[in-house]
Amino acid sequence: MSRVYLSPPDVGEAERRLLLEAFDSGWIAPIGPQLDAFERELATRVGVPRALAVSSGTAALHLALVLVGVGPGDDVLVPTFTFVATANAVRYMGARPVFVDCEETTWQLDPALVAAELETRARRGRLPAAVVAVDLYGQTPDYERLAAACEAHGVPLVEDAAEALGATYHDVPAGSFGAVGVLSFNGNKIITTSSGGALVSSSEALVDRARHLSTQARENEVHYEHVDLGFNYRMSNLLAALGLAQLRDLDARIDRRKRINERYRRALSDRPGIEFMPVASYGRPNFWLTCVRIDAGRFGASRDEVRLSLEAVDVEARPTWKPLHLQPLYADAPRLGGGVAEAIFADGLCLPSGSGLSEADQQRVLDVVVG
Ligand SMILES: *Cc1c(COP(=O)(O)O)cnc(C)c1O
Repeated sequence: MSRVYLSPPDVGEAERRLLLEAFDSGWIAPIGPQLDAFERELATRVGVPRALAVSSGTAALHLALVLVGVGPGDDVLVPTFTFVATANAVRYMGARPVFVDCEETTWQLDPALVAAELETRARRGRLPAAVVAVDLYGQTPDYERLAAACEAHGVPLVEDAAEALGATYHDVPAGSFGAVGVLSFNGNKIITTSSGGALVSSSEALVDRARHLSTQARENEVHYEHVDLGFNYRMSNLLAALGLAQLRDLDARIDRRKRINERYRRALSDRPGIEFMPVASYGRPNFWLTCVRIDAGRFGASRDEVRLSLEAVDVEARPTWKPLHLQPLYADAPRLGGGVAEAIFADGLCLPSGSGLSEADQQRVLDVVVG
């Protein structure tokens, strides 16, 4: 029996065929027809006019913060309950993340905390340069309330939708809510280009600007002329071919992850002491990862005991994100609340959820968790 991973890449013949087609076409560079097609289809899927494919979600986040004008000494509101990349991009700009807690009912960034903080800061004349919202574990925060708070104070909103491609909020696709949205195609995400990411926006001007910055900001001259500080962040045409095959199969992948989630829920429905990440009524998740909270006393085993029992049969499960305000890297960053994220980190567990997870392997997980 081979190891079961949390969310491994799920690739097959279609990916292989498009990748070899791209290889044979000779476009072995960060430019080419597959890259163009991937960006077009991605933009359509997210419901925006333009997308820019880049080398990682982290690179897209970095560009997003450049685009909305974050600079040295600025503050940026960021959820504490997320992957470290969200906050690292703030640091790359010489700015400071201010960590905001999530809601217990959705595990997502708390819009009331964001609104109150923006009010307080507006009175003091010290508004943050941006708010970065994260669509955590494949569902979105309440964007109506977040966007209203940001608009009221003229603060740009950036959407880190790295985990949420294909999810919706009131039937509107994740990725389309901020001034700029960010996607990731890392090996563990819902679709992968092995490594990669994208920046999306309803503003074509912003995406054009990002394209310029992502290719070393070369001016339109025959010699190499530079005015702006650029980056080398473009995606390879070969990897875009992989992404194209994956993107065309996105709905089937969401459906498979949803069915895994439903199977776990059914099998554990009459067990006390275990709760699944709540699904907010305002949207449809992409079910990227199925996560649970385990109350050791009522369940009869702690989160760590369950995780170690899974590990003993070669199944990977992981604690939910460690809140960033608890990371040594960000020990000195200010924060608003944090207790909810800490509680979820204490008893939260992510279960194997890959779209290629066989029924036999789902059973292997359940045999341990159900006991
Ligand atoms: C994966 C992820 C990123 C970073 O994407 P990479 O492609 O790995 O650089 C950023 N934010 C969140 C929330 C993520 O899950």
